This record gives sequence, C-alpha cells and structure tokens, in this order.
Amino acid sequence: MRKVALFDTKPYDKEYFDAVNAKQTAPYEMVYFENKLTAQTAQLAKGCEAVCAFVNDDISKEAIETLYGAGVKVLAMRCAGYSNVDFKAAFGKINVVRVPAYSPNGVAEHAMALLQTLNRKIHKAYNRTRDFNFSLVGLTGINLHGKTAGVIGTGKIGQAFIDICRGYGMRVIAYDLYPAKDKGIEYVDMDTLLKESDVISLHCPLTEQTHHILDASAFSKMKKGAFIVNTSRGALIDSEALLEALNAETIRGAGLDVYEEEANLFFEDFSGTVIKDDVLSLLVSKPNVILTSHQAFLTEEALENIAETTIENLNAYFDDQELVNEVCYQCIGGKGKVQCKEEGKKRCF
Ligand code: NAD
Repeated sequence: MRKVALFDTKPYDKEYFDAVNAKQTAPYEMVYFENKLTAQTAQLAKGCEAVCAFVNDDISKEAIETLYGAGVKVLAMRCAGYSNVDFKAAFGKINVVRVPAYSPNGVAEHAMALLQTLNRKIHKAYNRTRDFNFSLVGLTGINLHGKTAGVIGTGKIGQAFIDICRGYGMRVIAYDLYPAKDKGIEYVDMDTLLKESDVISLHCPLTEQTHHILDASAFSKMKKGAFIVNTSRGALIDSEALLEALNAETIRGAGLDVYEEEANLFFEDFSGTVIKDDVLSLLVSKPNVILTSHQAFLTEEALENIAETTIENLNAYFDDQELVNEVCYQCIGGKGKVQCKEEGKKRCF
C-alpha cells in the first residue's frame, strides 16, 4: 500500500479523505499529522511516497530537500494557492500538483457574507439581541444596490463574486493583468478602481507583483467610506497601512479571511494565550473589522472536492497518467511564461 503523509490535518480533513480513499480500488495508507509541514517536520514523511500539504505549511528549499531525501516523489497541495512552495527547489525532484478549484462559489459567498456582516452590522446585532438589547442605534448600513464593486482578479472566484454583486444590483468594475474575454466585465486601470469603488474585493493570487497591492498609497486613492474584503492571501494588503486607513476613517470597514502573518496562528486555538502580534490585536479589536481564520473555502462541497481531486492527482501520478493539475518552476508564471503542458508532455519533468 502506498503511503501518503498529510500535514496540518484537522478532523474535517480526515473525515473527507478517509471517505474518498475508502472508495478507491487501491486505497492509500493515509498517515495524518497535525503538525505543519516545515523543514523540521519534513522527516516525518520518511517511508511515504507522497505528501499532502495545505496553505500555511512552509515548503521551503530545506523542507523539499528533506522530503526528497526521505523518498517523497510527489507533493499534493490540497489547495489552489501555492505561494508557500519553493518551486525552484522542487523542480526536477518532486512533482507538485494542486487542487485548482474546489469551491469558487463557496469562497465568493464567504466574501459577500463578510461584506454584508460588516455593512449591516450583523455581528453587533447578534450580540445585542442575545442580551435582549433591541436598540438599533449604531446599526445603520448602506444599500449595496446601485453601489460599485471593484474586483481585483477576475479568475474563478472573482467571477463568482462578480455574479453575486450583479445579483445585488451593483455596478461591477474590475482590474486583472489578464482580462477575461466575453464575460461582459468592465475592466479599468487600478487607480480608477480605487477611486470609484464602494467595495474592493481581492481575488488575485499572491505574487511579487501583488504583494501589498493595497498599500498606503492605494488606501490614499480610495473613495472615502469604501469597504475592503480580502479572501485571497493576507500579504495582498499592507496590514499596518490598513490600520492607518481604519483609524483615519477613510475606509468604512474590512472583512478579512486572511492575514499576512497568519501562518503560525490560523487554524489553531489561541484563546488562552496573549497574542503578541499587535497589528492583528488592533485589527481584531475594531468594530468595523471582521476576521475569519481562512475559512472561506470551508464547505462540505469544497472538502469533498479537495479530497477527490487530491486523490485523483495522486492516482494520475502513480499510474503514469498526465498530471493535469501540475505546477512547476517553469509554468507557475502562467500566461506569458513557459507552459510545460503546451509542449505535449504528460508532466513538467
Ligand atoms: P484564478 O487563478 O482562477 O484567478 C486569479 C486571477 O488573478 C486571474 O484572472 C489572474 O489573471 C489574476 N491576476 C494574476 N496576477 C494579477 C495581478 N498582478 N493583478 C491583478 N490580477 C492578477 O484563482 P482563483 O481560484 O479565483 O483564486 C484566487 C485566490 O483566492 C487564490 O490565489 C487563493 O490565494 C485564494 N483562495 C482563498 C481561499 C480561502 O479559503 N480563503 C480558497 C481558495 C482560494
């Protein structure tokens, strides 16, 4: 039986992976670790031919070398993003596959849930009515109908969010390096998006270009009273600049599912601990900030898709089939850079 080491696993991961694996004609031996995958924990994968990792694992050059030395051949990311993988170190040694889309609608729905919780102050109303405080003072929101949503990144999740905004009767404008064709999306330059949007929602990946795409300069160009929503990656926003914009009341509120320093915090219970990250503490303390801990993906449908696609990716690898969901050092740049699969190969190397 081939062994797969799954890192950073939670009870819900185990439930769905066990269910999908049990349906396989040749099931894998799943070895579940609660630890994150790091240079220090990589040696736990000894004896496993495959490793399955998630968004906050630290898959550095050192981790890759330890995995390779331990006999690991394939790294199956059970997520879409891969900014935590050192692809240069993996190239030629360990093939990397991912789950490109597990629930774009689920993530987009969570983005709108964050926005409407903030806007209509549902979090405050929930606490008030539990205390039989039925006052409405301070709970005034705005109609989204007729307002402008600015969407940065119009891939799968961005387009699902655009559909939801259109359902609310919003005008949608968007910015993307690679505009989608035939989708009827009104693309504008970044400055126009910042200036005209009542809601700015981030749906682009984290790259060198998008790191701190919302920085102090971007906040200074925004329409006063705009909402910010980030369900993509924390480092798209300069958190200190966000705090300043919140303090200056130039923005109305922020709905965050991700945070740039989330890696050692999110998915764990620190309720009995003094959090030493002052920026996070200040953000969380604000009534107009809603923070969820990278849960936008967390739906039953997504967990099932993640487990199914990950196991299909592993089957393809071990059956010597084409790795349709492979990403590598050469092709991560995507459009414009080398596309390994266009060269007619079954896998990147
Ligand atoms: P996608 O690849 O379908 O779309 C990304 C879009 O961003 C593409 O259209 C691309 O052209 C665009 N883009 C790339 N570089 C850009 C730039 N410099 N400026 C503007 N646009 C740029 O990805 P997706 O499936 O829609 O996912 C978007 C992001 O959502 C992922 O990168 C991931 O970080 C995040 N995500 C978060 C969760 C969660 O639970 N919070 C779950 C899944 C994905």
